[in-house]
Amino acid sequence: MDIIGAGIGGLTTAIALQQKGIATRIFEQAPKFKPIGAGIVLASNAMQVYQKLGLAKEIAAAGIPISTMHLTTPQLTAFSKIDLSHFENKYNIKNIAIHRGKLQEILVRQLDAKQIHLNHQLQTITEKDAGYLLAFKNGETLFSKQILGADGIQSKVRNSLFDDTTIRSSQQICWRGVCEFQLPKKHKNIFTEAWGKGNRFGFVEIAPNLVYWYAVKTMEQAYGSYTTNDWPSLFTNYDSMAQELIARTPKESIHVAELTDLLALKKWYKKDVCLLGDAAHATTPNMGQGACQAIEDAYVLAACLQQTAQEEAYAKFQQIRQSKVSYIVKSSWNFGKMAHWKNPLAIGIRNNLLKMTPDFINRLQIEKLFQLETISG
Ligand SMILES: Cc1cc2nc3c(=O)[nH]c(=O)nc-3n(C[C@H](O)[C@H](O)[C@H](O)COP(=O)(O)OP(=O)(O)OC[C@H]3O[C@@H](n4cnc5c(N)ncnc54)[C@H](O)[C@@H]3O)c2cc1C
Repeated sequence: MDIIGAGIGGLTTAIALQQKGIATRIFEQAPKFKPIGAGIVLASNAMQVYQKLGLAKEIAAAGIPISTMHLTTPQLTAFSKIDLSHFENKYNIKNIAIHRGKLQEILVRQLDAKQIHLNHQLQTITEKDAGYLLAFKNGETLFSKQILGADGIQSKVRNSLFDDTTIRSSQQICWRGVCEFQLPKKHKNIFTEAWGKGNRFGFVEIAPNLVYWYAVKTMEQAYGSYTTNDWPSLFTNYDSMAQELIARTPKESIHVAELTDLLALKKWYKKDVCLLGDAAHATTPNMGQGACQAIEDAYVLAACLQQTAQEEAYAKFQQIRQSKVSYIVKSSWNFGKMAHWKNPLAIGIRNNLLKMTPDFINRLQIEKLFQLETISG
């Protein structure tokens, strides 16, 4: 089986399939594994999958456990505090914040180097005989009978073989960075997101004295016209720690992205081809669930492929996963919009409502994210 894309989704799928005795080849466009300087939060649902794959301990040891989530004002006064200990006890696993590079290293180590083909950017994919001809930018071509498209939101596999899809811009721009910083004790093991007017700033420790931060702003001009020189001034009304985190991060390592998602696809599969992760159902990152959903996909898809033959397995995979990912894509979109309100009166009401939300309501909402689907059969 051939996987296009060695992101978190592609690598985790290869590991899950390997554990079911299904061999894969992975084709990745990057000439080498070069992690972007950013962190990621692996929520309980993703960590439950890694526990099943036998990787949770190693991942947890390379990251930092997160037991509380805070929503705060720009001056870091919390108006919503969500304690995750209920879920830690229920699932016997913690949410982990980790450097993306560390996670990638751990995943790659589980696979045979010979099965990962770097510098293989898929350029065209054509139906031929009872399979597909894959042509790569490096001049190589090969025949494949079964393809998994794990090539992200701009998926070449999807764009070549599936009906037109729409990538939707949230009109928000995000800068991310990682810097060495001694986070005060009161902020440790907490994921904090501060909400301003039309912007927000989040940070979390991902290794001892290493902090991942991100800054998001509603775009008032074209995406490409923002430069790294003008943007730090956009966050000057935030707590001085935000300024310090930004200032300590080498400019050239700051990663910028427009926050987008994918309008729902009717079908994630077609004969011997199946999409997964962002290629199938990219979401805005406002609920920190994009990679977590790709990881859940990997586990469910491998279980389905072990049980049944190809197209039937893909149909079952989509049927199991679709409802949860649709909920996340929709909720994440709305959450991101709500976080960027600008009207001070509306902001006041919103913050008070979030403050007054009873714990059991928060738990019900989080449970929808953390609970894995049952795979029958
Ligand atoms: C600002 C931001 C913050 C985020 N924070 C979180 C978080 O805290 N928690 C979380 O769960 N998610 C988070 N996400 C979402 C997460 O990053 C994605 O959902 C996740 O990376 C999707 O994984 P994937 O493997 O499906 O796709 P990708 O990570 O996009 O990987 C696709 C891979 O395919 C390769 N590829 C692409 N095209 C080709 C081609 N033609 N040929 C060969 N290879 C190709 C790419 O190089 C890449 O390696 C965040 C996203 C953003 C933008």
